[in-house]
Amino acid sequence: MPKFEYAPAPESRAIVSLRESYGLFINGQFTPSADGGAFKTISPATEEVLAEVAEAGPADVDRAVTAARTAYERTWSALPPKERGKYLFRLARIIQERARELAVLESLDNGKPIRESRDVDIPLVAAHFFYHAGWADKLEYAGYGPAPRPLGVAGQVIPWNFPLLMLAWKIAPALACGNTVVLKPAETTPLTALTFAEICQQADLPPGVVNILTGAGETGRALVTHPGVDKVAFTGSTEVGKEIARSCAPTRKKVTLELGGKAANIVFEDAPVDQAVEGIVNGIFFNQGHVCCAGSRLLVQESVYDQVLASLQSRLRTLRLGDPLDKNTDVGAINSAAQLAKIRELSEIGEAEGAQRWSPPCELPVKGFWFPPTVFTGVSQAHRIAREEIFGPVLSVLTFRTPAEAVEKANNTPYGLSAGVWTDKGSRILWMASRLRAGVVWANTFNKFDPSSPFGGYKESGYGREGGRHGLEAYLDV
Ligand code: NDP
Repeated sequence: MPKFEYAPAPESRAIVSLRESYGLFINGQFTPSADGGAFKTISPATEEVLAEVAEAGPADVDRAVTAARTAYERTWSALPPKERGKYLFRLARIIQERARELAVLESLDNGKPIRESRDVDIPLVAAHFFYHAGWADKLEYAGYGPAPRPLGVAGQVIPWNFPLLMLAWKIAPALACGNTVVLKPAETTPLTALTFAEICQQADLPPGVVNILTGAGETGRALVTHPGVDKVAFTGSTEVGKEIARSCAPTRKKVTLELGGKAANIVFEDAPVDQAVEGIVNGIFFNQGHVCCAGSRLLVQESVYDQVLASLQSRLRTLRLGDPLDKNTDVGAINSAAQLAKIRELSEIGEAEGAQRWSPPCELPVKGFWFPPTVFTGVSQAHRIAREEIFGPVLSVLTFRTPAEAVEKANNTPYGLSAGVWTDKGSRILWMASRLRAGVVWANTFNKFDPSSPFGGYKESGYGREGGRHGLEAYLDV
């Protein structure tokens, strides 16, 4: 239990000047949607309406793709690579200058704690632009031939869990390689993408190089199926990813998909328990568990199960849930009513299937969408909570006896995005890493991201890599 009470420490909202309504960002200008369609975006912590946002229809998608094509042919692909790099450096610097504003806006629109948007999301966004700015004039050294060519117009669709960071993962490499983009942010989190559109204006980025189309799933579908798009990049659910793969299969479009996950976080008996518990907490309760690579399946060696569980429960009692803008908050709001309903449903199924549910004592705010940190024990591999992506602050705990059993259980999933290994032995880390079918394996840490490190999945977690030298390949004609 905490030794003392925390006083409220709210971050000021004053740095954000929200407009009442936002248009689509096409060819360097904000414009209304062709049919006047619009929707509201709300704060998931309070259900307060933050702004009205235009909803792009097929005619808008067509306009944006045409603008991106013209900018690609007339401006961007013809620019000397060093000049492209200068624009990316400029975008990165403006993001740093406006970091506090972007962090507050992200927490307002998404519900994530300001501590995370301020210390993780936005610094990584800037780092991503800086990193790719450096690549722009060095592509000939990336290992893809002496003069690698861009693909053309990229249609990009991103989810709501890391709105600006996913935008950076998509836009920075695309521009560095000489492509132009049309990007659709998620319906529930459009505001930082629209602020990024303002940043493009501030950086004097040539019109049409970046186009932002707000809307729902239909807008995303119209974008990825548009015949003028050369490259599709998607992050989101496996279900939608499969639909996109099917629709692009008969076309010449190049596709990368970053989909769901059900990662195993594996704790061996020789792991430093306190450190491992911090890693477990970070693995599943960071960003309310709305993380595709979240460590949602904890595999603990049987001999230390009681000790690990007791330490974990004692640590979870100290987590603070509440106002995302409070600097002391560890667990923020669930992003939407629909996501909350999904988390509740799967948790109820977990109980009905016989697993034991536990949450620390924690008062949930009355307004908004909230779910307490939750741990399920007595989970078997057949349980749905051990197989399906819950995408919320819910951990399923399983046990193992031998390293071989740990590998078998960890790999027993249709997904393969990430995994974590906690042990004192370097040789065991390497032994495990070479057997785990996961795109990223973290050792004695979890949820560590760096723009130079490729990220992506095996199996139903998708294909293609984002970040690092490998990530460039997705945006080059190689
Ligand atoms: P979706 O896959 O539906 O959404 C991801 C993005 O794709 C959003 O921008 C969405 O728009 C858009 N989209 C939706 N349908 C289509 C389509 N047919 N064609 C093109 N684009 C489309 O995820 P949800 O937000 O519905 O979340 C559902 C579940 O997916 C979650 O509970 C979670 O399990 C998983 N998920 C996994 C993520 C990951 O990073 N691996 C990220 C997000 C969700 P819009 O938001 O407007 O609907």
